[in-house]
Amino acid sequence: MEIIPGVYFLDKVRGSNVYLLVDKCLAIIDTGIPGNHTRIINFIRGLGRNPEELIHIILTHGHIDHIGSAVELQRATGAKIVVHKDELVSTPSGNYVLAPHPEEMHGWAERIMNRHGMLKFSPTDIAVEDGQILPYLGGLSIIHTPGHTRGSMCLLLEKSGVLFVGDTIINNKDRLSRPIPFHTDKNISEQSLLKITGYNFTICCFGHGPILKQDAYKKVNNLVRSYPDSSLWRRIVRNFGLLIKFFIRLWHK
Ligand SMILES: [Zn+2]
Ligand SMILES: [Zn+2]
Repeated sequence: MEIIPGVYFLDKVRGSNVYLLVDKCLAIIDTGIPGNHTRIINFIRGLGRNPEELIHIILTHGHIDHIGSAVELQRATGAKIVVHKDELVSTPSGNYVLAPHPEEMHGWAERIMNRHGMLKFSPTDIAVEDGQILPYLGGLSIIHTPGHTRGSMCLLLEKSGVLFVGDTIINNKDRLSRPIPFHTDKNISEQSLLKITGYNFTICCFGHGPILKQDAYKKVNNLVRSYPDSSLWRRIVRNFGLLIKFFIRLWHK
């Protein structure tokens, strides 16, 4: 689906939402869960473009539902994987994108996530910082928004006012909400949300949930100004049914 000229939403991809930017070269924002690379390549071919024109695989953060198909897509196209520098884990064998960071994870959580294939290491080629601009559709700005993870980032097409928020904000169809903050400092999440409202945008593209084409700025601003009235755990318990549905949808879109 074309959102605006040059910006596409790939609706057949499973896991997170995936967006394609089409300019002289191509860039993809997030890749969904493992197994999507053929769908993404077919989508690019369907537009009459060559998959080898894909230059950047931009990952909003290191969760498996976003980075799952990055390596396969990289192998198939030769594109470079781009992440925020704070999402990197450096090892002697290279840089990897991974969230949550090992030191933020309890041992039992790491074991469970590993056993269920929820931790995936993706070698990373380019580490970016806040304020950097990638050369797509008049300029794609990197906005560092730590909170959901320490290296989460939003991306803004300044010229057309299209903002990609990854999991910094979730669209639950009837309302926007804050994601689970994996970063330990809650104030950092709130500062990131406030930071977003300092930019001009008219369309908001989420990592999960439908795209907002109308009143996007107003709705995001309303969310940011309405500070949650109860603790995170209370909200998780209250919305437990919604959370389960969310995880089921992730893997069976
Ligand atoms: Zn996600
Ligand atoms: Zn996430």
